Amino acid sequence: MSPVEQAKLPTPRDSYGLGNSSVIKSLAHSLGFFACGIAKAEPVDEAVAQKYRKWLENGEEASMAYMANYLEKRLDPRLLVPGVRSIVSLALNYAPAQQLPEGEYQIAAYALGLDYHDLMKVKMRELAEKIAAKFHSFQETEENQPLNRETRTKDNETNIKECGKKVPLSPRGERGWGCFCDTAPVLERYWAQKAGIGWIGRNHQLIIPHAGSMFFLGEIFLPFEVDVYDEPMANRCGSCHRCIDACPTRAIIPGEDFHAERCLSYQLIENRGELSAEAKTAMGDTIYGCDRCQTACPWNRFATPNTEPALQPKPELLNMSKEKWHNLTVEDYRRLFKGSAVKRVKFEGLKRNITVKKP
Ligand code: SF4
Ligand code: SF4
Repeated sequence: MSPVEQAKLPTPRDSYGLGNSSVIKSLAHSLGFFACGIAKAEPVDEAVAQKYRKWLENGEEASMAYMANYLEKRLDPRLLVPGVRSIVSLALNYAPAQQLPEGEYQIAAYALGLDYHDLMKVKMRELAEKIAAKFHSFQETEENQPLNRETRTKDNETNIKECGKKVPLSPRGERGWGCFCDTAPVLERYWAQKAGIGWIGRNHQLIIPHAGSMFFLGEIFLPFEVDVYDEPMANRCGSCHRCIDACPTRAIIPGEDFHAERCLSYQLIENRGELSAEAKTAMGDTIYGCDRCQTACPWNRFATPNTEPALQPKPELLNMSKEKWHNLTVEDYRRLFKGSAVKRVKFEGLKRNITVKKP
């Protein structure tokens, strides 16, 4: 962008008034988000930053090298998106309405339907556009009119592709905006707790009171302040330790950092090599991910099944038997998991997990 074009861009301060947090939340709920909270964009608390640095120093990220990338941006969202003033934290329910049949191989609940990254980003983009339209205060011209439906749909498709390349979204190309879900250096659970949606439990998941932890998280970065910021939510785990007792690999130990390398979610998805001996014995019938520290959590008793069509498992997936899994071909895999987050593990990775089990 040339300096002349740059100068034409409105700055966050003169383009927007103060955002009304209740309006933003009500827009979020109207688009199907279960929870929405808003925090001021500022560096993460020093204690959290230190803990994260120590976690990396101890090599606990295992082979997930991306967790160490862009450290300073991860610890200060203003470096990630210059001009950001507020962070809207969003949660979308994925508690399953249908499970894979008992006694058959299981995959983690979040991966039963279509890839949540795409769904979240389309929804967040739509919300960002609505917010921009509500709080954009400079005079509307042909160039800054809200996008029409046709353009918006096309734009969403482009954004889905862009998001894969970790490009932040901006409703009108202005600075200070961003939409993120899992693909950028953002401490999502930290911001969700900071925005008062829930707390980070002993199982390292974001727990929403009276709703549980089966939620996709996303953030919209805003280039303006809002009238009311939410208070961080205090931890309500109390003396409970059910998730710790339920973890078959001792990935969560009280008073210790999270041992990602031991976790079945890491072993069965992120680990590209051979499964650890511990994972092979602990995985039980699960061939992708692990939900045990979530299903053990008493707050998940309050979970309500999601009604989002994109998150429902395909009939073919519900009909999979152990025998079919062991005979899975690459064509079956492509058909079953087209547009699914399970693609992350690739055919070879899923086969590796299945092959550990006796047919
Ligand atoms: S996902 Fe499974 S292995 Fe990982 S911490 Fe939770 S219970 Fe333990
Ligand atoms: S199981 Fe208990 S300790 Fe673990 S996250 Fe849930 S409430 Fe907290």
